[in-house]
Amino acid sequence: MNTQGRKTTPDAETAAGTDVGTYTGNRGLVHEEPLIFELDNPGVTGVDLEAAPAVTSRLGGLKARAGIGLPGLSEPTVVRHYTRLSQKNFGIDSTMYPLGSCTMKHNPRLNEKLARLAGFSDIHPMQPQSTVQGALELIDQLAHWLKTLTGMPAVAMSPAAGAHGELCGLMAIRAALQARGETGRTRVLVPESAHGTNPATAAFCGFTVDAIPAEANGRVSVEAVKAKLGPDVACIMLTNPNTCGLFEPQVKEIADAVHAAGGYFYCDGANYNAIVGRVRPADLGVDAMHINLHKTFSTPHGGGGPGSGPVVLSDALAPYAPLPYVVHGADGLRLVEHAADAEGRPFGRMKAFHGQMGMFVRALAYILSHGADGLRQASSDAVLNANYVKARLQDVMSVPFDGYCMHEALFDDRFLKDTGVTTLDFAKAMIDEGFHPMTMYFPLVVHGAFLIEPTETEPKATLDQFIGAMRHLAGKAKAGDAAHFLAAPRYTPRRRLDETGAARKPVLRWTPPAA
Ligand SMILES: *Cc1c(COP(=O)(O)O)cnc(C)c1O
Repeated sequence: MNTQGRKTTPDAETAAGTDVGTYTGNRGLVHEEPLIFELDNPGVTGVDLEAAPAVTSRLGGLKARAGIGLPGLSEPTVVRHYTRLSQKNFGIDSTMYPLGSCTMKHNPRLNEKLARLAGFSDIHPMQPQSTVQGALELIDQLAHWLKTLTGMPAVAMSPAAGAHGELCGLMAIRAALQARGETGRTRVLVPESAHGTNPATAAFCGFTVDAIPAEANGRVSVEAVKAKLGPDVACIMLTNPNTCGLFEPQVKEIADAVHAAGGYFYCDGANYNAIVGRVRPADLGVDAMHINLHKTFSTPHGGGGPGSGPVVLSDALAPYAPLPYVVHGADGLRLVEHAADAEGRPFGRMKAFHGQMGMFVRALAYILSHGADGLRQASSDAVLNANYVKARLQDVMSVPFDGYCMHEALFDDRFLKDTGVTTLDFAKAMIDEGFHPMTMYFPLVVHGAFLIEPTETEPKATLDQFIGAMRHLAGKAKAGDAAHFLAAPRYTPRRRLDETGAARKPVLRWTPPAA
């Protein structure tokens, strides 16, 4: 151990271990990276400062009892630390990122350039509105295009992610039901294949969740929905295209049946990337739908944020849209920030300030630079790419639902039967091949799911390489080489980790090693 408590001698290599058999723990030119606190060299700083003059504390009994524990670091140490951390970041700018249900799509650099314009990036949400008319106009224009693309009459711009948008939609539905005096509508219908945020949102809003079983073809049938409808149903939360990557062909009949029974139709619009420019959700009978700008309109995401989840609303729900929103006044654009100034009956506010401004700039840049034809082309290419992957892998992997898919290709683990290899093992071997794994074990309605979403910008060469790697691994598994998979990943700085333990019992606080 060195003075910072780090190992200086290698351990024996273990499957679960961190050691790669080198003296340093580094691998090639990839360095182990200690925590910045472990790099602490007390007394070292990046700048020379004069000793602070003696001061008399005016904090009374609130005097600091000890230092605040910042590490002592030179400038080169800090630069190397953060540079090395940045190189460990894997993202869509590194290579294909085939996570399904996440749409890790390319973010054109034009969007970044515009988001960095000082007039957008240097403004403050508490500035007088007369000084940020351009920013308000941008929010208003983006709102206009989101309404145009979806065919919906209203949009709430402030929700900060898809799940936050779901909450916004369900709160609007709850407010509308309360206004109708129908507080007995407490049940929310959610198909089994739904993203976990759907039932979580409904439960968080105080509704009870009633699961609708999926049909053998991966879709929701109008009969199954009708069987669940009743005077206590508040709404259905339906994803379209659904999380199996399939369009719901009975969506209109389902919407009509729910409306006839007095309920609302919340559409989870996370998969809107597959249908932009081709389907207007308003024509499907949607009352509320969130749009993940960070999926469909290319604003970057990952690592916990930022997201942006505007919610388009039907005429029935628009009066309950949350504050704030932009209106056209006599002296330009204005934010309605208080219920007393609102025309409708806003249910409240989703977050501080006005929404994710940087995401709005990027999304509008994406929409305007593509134009109607470009957006339509992007959704078509996303679907084409997914179908290419599906077509070229379906003879070696197993497909739960036949026929064309939308923007993501779903496989199950039947092709791994009796090989001793699980979906997780397979994914670990993909890492050694240089591919970030697809979404695994979701949706839950198929066993050992592989959900692959290439997105529209992956060129055929990349798809072919990915397909080649997947075919190679499928062949290896079927040839009985389970050992290859059980030992993977071999080439990562960390190998098999206790992922459940890390999620359930995260260790988030570093404690210095005992002296
Ligand atoms: C991503 C996703 C969500 C949640 O969106 P966030 O922006 O991650 O909160 C909800 N439903 C589906 C189907 C999704 O893919």
